[in-house]
Order: sequence, then C-alpha cells, then structure tokens
Amino acid sequence: MSNYDSPLDWPNWLPLREDLKDQSPYGAPQLPLEVKLNTNENPFSLSPALVKKLSEAIANSAKDFNRYPDRDAIELRSELAKYLSSTTGVNLSVDQIWAANGSNEIIQTLFLAFAGAGVNSLGFTPSYSMHENIARSTGTNWITGERLSNFSIDLSSALKEISTQKPKLVFITTPNNPTGTSTAISDIRKIIEATAQVGGLTIIDEAYAEFSEQPSTIELLSKYLNLVVIRTMSKAFSFAGVRVGYLAAGKEVVDALQLVRLPYHLSTPTQLLAKVALEFQSELLAEVEQLKIERNKVVAELQNLGLTVVPSSANFLLFSIDNEKQVWQELVKVGVLVRDVGIAGHLRVTIGTPSENDRFLAALREILRVLKGEK
Ligand SMILES: *Cc1c(COP(=O)(O)O)cnc(C)c1O
Repeated sequence: MSNYDSPLDWPNWLPLREDLKDQSPYGAPQLPLEVKLNTNENPFSLSPALVKKLSEAIANSAKDFNRYPDRDAIELRSELAKYLSSTTGVNLSVDQIWAANGSNEIIQTLFLAFAGAGVNSLGFTPSYSMHENIARSTGTNWITGERLSNFSIDLSSALKEISTQKPKLVFITTPNNPTGTSTAISDIRKIIEATAQVGGLTIIDEAYAEFSEQPSTIELLSKYLNLVVIRTMSKAFSFAGVRVGYLAAGKEVVDALQLVRLPYHLSTPTQLLAKVALEFQSELLAEVEQLKIERNKVVAELQNLGLTVVPSSANFLLFSIDNEKQVWQELVKVGVLVRDVGIAGHLRVTIGTPSENDRFLAALREILRVLKGEK
C-alpha cells in the first residue's frame, strides 16, 4: 500500500538510532479516491464567507512576515480560552491554555517535558496510536493497558497498572479513536486520582469532544492539578490542513512546556487563521450538529444491513464485518476509502457529507450482496 508498510532496509552508514531501525512511519494509506472516509476529517469545506476572511487576514499581515510570530501566541490562546469557557462553563485564563501545530505537537511536547528514557507511560488500546508512537520517538517506555470486549477501559486493571508501574503520563482518549466509545467521568476521576498518587499526569485527549453529549473533563480542571485536556481544531473546526491543537491544564503544566517547545513554533499565518476560524465558531459548530444527525442515520443504515455498530460519540463509526480486508479492497475499487484499523472483523468509517455517506452505504450494500451470493 504505502512505501512504509514494512520496515526499511537502512544502509549501514546512516547513524539512525538503534531503537528506530525496525519501526515504520505513522500514516493511513493516502489513495486518490473520490469518497474519502478514512481519517476522521470534517467533510464540509469552508464557507465562502470564512474563506474570504481567512484570505483577508493573510493579505493584511503578509508584509510583516519578515518578523517572527508572537512566540507565546497570546491572542490565539485567549480566544481559545474564551471558546472553551463559553462551551464548558468553566472559567479558564490564557495561562491555562497552550497551542501548537496540531495536537500531535501538543502530545510530543508533553512527552519531552514529562517523560523520556526510563520513564513509564500508559494508554489503553485500541486507541489513538500516536500516543504510543510519540512515546517511542521520545524514548519513553509505553505500557499497553486493557480494554474490555465492549472497548471500555478495564478500571480495576487500570488502577493496578498505575499503582505498580507508576507512569508519569496516562492517556485516555474520549470519545476514543478508533472505537468512538466514551469513558465515564467517574472512571476518569479514579484514574486521575490514582495517577496523582504516583506523581503522574492524566492526559485526556478530547479530539472529538464537540461531537459528544458527555460533559468535557475540563470541568474537572479546578479539582485536579495533574489533569491535562487536549483539543484540536482538526475535526470539529474543519481545520485539519492548518494544524492547530491546544491544551487546557494548570498554569504550572503550561509553564513547564515552555522549557522544551521550539521558539516561534506556531507561525503567524497559523495564529491568524485559527483566530478567524474561532470567529466563525457558530457556523462551524452548526455543521457538527449536522454531522451528528448524519452519524445517527448511518448507524441505522448499517444496522439495517445486519451489521453491529459500536456506540459512537464521535464523527466516525466502528462496525463489525466479516472479511474486512476483502470488503475494504472492494470499497476501494468503487472509489470509497474507509479505514482498516487493525481490529479483526471491524472497519472504521468517518461520517462524510450526506452524498458521501449514501455512496458508501450503497457500495457496502452491493458488496455484501455479492459476497453472500458467492457463498
Ligand atoms: C485526529 C486526532 C487528533 C488530531 O491530531 P491533530 O494533530 O490535531 O490533527 C488527536 N487525537 C486523536 C485521538 C485524534 O483522533
């Protein structure tokens, strides 16, 4: 599929780190297909009004691109604080927010500041594999915690892992990728408390929070100093191409990240564009509501096809299906790209526009009909 499905044969002269030699780069297959439902992007392109404002923002500031950007992205961070405060009801100040080039940079910076060689980190798979990948690239030990067969976190085994392995970083993705399932706030509290006992931070990756009805763990920030909540503009805000992620945490956490972040890491265009997108939040969040309605429609249609769908609070669905590799390939043949996330008997599909979802469902219906006839 990609050039990178198996480890490369590295030449001897290349002084590559020993621990990286058998690794492959992260990334979903990129195929130029018409219906792209494999990376959980927001399917709606930006409105003409938003595009106009984005272009104006660049045009008005381009002459100053000879200067470095605001190193601390103060204006952007205060707008992000306002956005989170207005949507969660929790009063957050600018010094509790940090922004970076996608939440992946946020995650990497957390590892740089709080982990590294000889330090344990913990997550519960299946989940977002970049947590583990970044643990690896920063030389941090990664411990794989368990989920039950319904993909919820096995709380008692999690608490035991935390007390015995003493991880400095514990990751919970909720709603979880690739399952779509949420972790109950009561379980999250117990994990945060157990992690505090061993001097660690609990990182809640809320990349899909806007698609969920569950309250944000941002509500717990005033109670727990060792809580970090990560968000992104890549999904709900239709902004994956610009690369903006952010976190909310105690001021001490944000201060510590400054020690390892690269100076001027967030470019002037990125900061400007993100501020404009935040001005359009009501328009963008209305599209999130539309996607939730679409999600429920796709769930019903998949169930009509006799498939089991894992309950999802995100903009994608994990569903069970026989011969998933063959079905994935057949979908590719008719121009539909979904994700084989490596869970046997399952595929993941991102919720697209209504017409993309219809094309996916029609293609799947036909593939299942043919496969049945063959038997
Ligand atoms: C998509 C996703 C992200 C987003 O990463 P960005 O770098 O902000 O684009 C983060 N966490 C999870 C769990 C995701 O699925």
